[in-house]
Amino acid sequence: MTLSLYDTMTRKKRAFTPRNEHRVTLYVCGPTVYNYAHIGNFRPVVVFDLLFRVLRDLYGEDAVLYAANVTDVDDKINAKAAEEGVPIGVISDRYLAAYNADAAALGAMKPTFQPRVTETMDAITAFIADLVAQKAAYAAEGHVVFDTQAFPDYGKLSGRPMDEMIAGARVDVAPYKRHPADFVLWKPSKPGEPSWDSAFGPGRPGWHIECTAMIEQALGLPIDIHGGGIDLVFPHHENELAQGVCAGHGTEYADVWMHNGFLNMGDEKMSKSVGNVALAHDLLKTWPGEALRWALLAGHYRQPLEWTGDLIEQAKSALDRLYRVLDDSARFLEGVPTAARASGGEHRGAVEAHDAVVSALRDDLNTPLAFAALFQLADHVRTSTTGKDVAGVERGRSLLLEAGQLMGLLVADPRAWFQGGADDDMKARVEALIAARGEARAAKDWPAADRIRDELSALKVEVMDGPTGATWRIKEQA
Ligand code: AMP
Ligand code: ZN
Repeated sequence: MTLSLYDTMTRKKRAFTPRNEHRVTLYVCGPTVYNYAHIGNFRPVVVFDLLFRVLRDLYGEDAVLYAANVTDVDDKINAKAAEEGVPIGVISDRYLAAYNADAAALGAMKPTFQPRVTETMDAITAFIADLVAQKAAYAAEGHVVFDTQAFPDYGKLSGRPMDEMIAGARVDVAPYKRHPADFVLWKPSKPGEPSWDSAFGPGRPGWHIECTAMIEQALGLPIDIHGGGIDLVFPHHENELAQGVCAGHGTEYADVWMHNGFLNMGDEKMSKSVGNVALAHDLLKTWPGEALRWALLAGHYRQPLEWTGDLIEQAKSALDRLYRVLDDSARFLEGVPTAARASGGEHRGAVEAHDAVVSALRDDLNTPLAFAALFQLADHVRTSTTGKDVAGVERGRSLLLEAGQLMGLLVADPRAWFQGGADDDMKARVEALIAARGEARAAKDWPAADRIRDELSALKVEVMDGPTGATWRIKEQA
């Protein structure tokens, strides 16, 4: 079954064919690192991490090259550095480390490349020089400006008519621009701001050229898939495309353009400027990263998603249900002698449910459908467990883990998942009570053993006596 993806440029879902299936390339616009990122910023991270996994599953782990950039030169970084009296690198390093830690906690794999603007300056200035040589850019008052009139297809990606773009650009039109829609490639730095030498004078790059140059340097143009949030279609991606095509390197830029919808809070796009933000860094203190990942994938990626407490609760309890099945089935298998574990059997239902997860994901990342199929698969494992069908449990369990992990989920040890709600004090207390209960039972002191069991129950702890001793878990919330 092939992969189909919705392409913003052609406005339809198309069968995806990479230029070279041994070298599939994906680029996603990343963060500006001047503060902790909010959970909305992590929607593209999680969505495109899922795509990365689906591509690796299809074409092979080494065949997919994924670059996600970091903007580490920016007014907001400058302002923060000035406020703290430190070089910009101190700010960007600090918040990049926090961003990467949050992304990892949300189950996102490291991209193959994570280029930074400060490490791409030579490629950026070389790209600008190419645009000037192609007469697609001009110098004016210390700036280098892209000439949008040099690109007849300007506006095609966003579908905006030129007069609308002009109207938008007129709000802040600089006198040195020939056309209101023209945009800056290089600008002089203000005194005291970081500055880089170039053939066009000392200064720093505009935002759009950074991505185009980073793509060229990290992956080579053209690429197969370009992704980012829907807010980036215009002007950022429109400008990236114009630069990429006009530099004289070739006429193609990206084969497929993918955009995730907004994460909203209180009916508005979550954004720092509005102030309606929940930081991933804070949410992760309360919730397992996997539950937040599930919540981010709960709706289709192209639709807006409303971020609420209920959404996270539902994600957590969905995962509790799946981990319960994994935990129960693991306990069942522990009690079965290895010799009795006959393999074989078709287990058609489980195989079909597994394949339904894969095909839902290959159909433009249809995560709601994939989740439904994951639950069907879990039902097969549960039924096999109650029916004591050893081979069915083994096969179903491994298919469930495989399908979950394709989505970057079900990666925790099921036992640890249910004990994760307990802090270290609670864990020590539970272990001590279980040990005391064992001693009471050994001494045939039944009233004491019962008392301890009640105490554990009051702590919402469920004790399971198995062949390898007693284990415990936090009881499921009703
Ligand atoms: P920024 O740091 O605002 O440039 O955003 C980094 C990435 O996060 C871009 O791909 C944005 O489109 C995306 N993004 C920012 N806010 C949201 C949001 N509320 N919902 C979904 N994506 C967002
Ligand atoms: Zn970009």
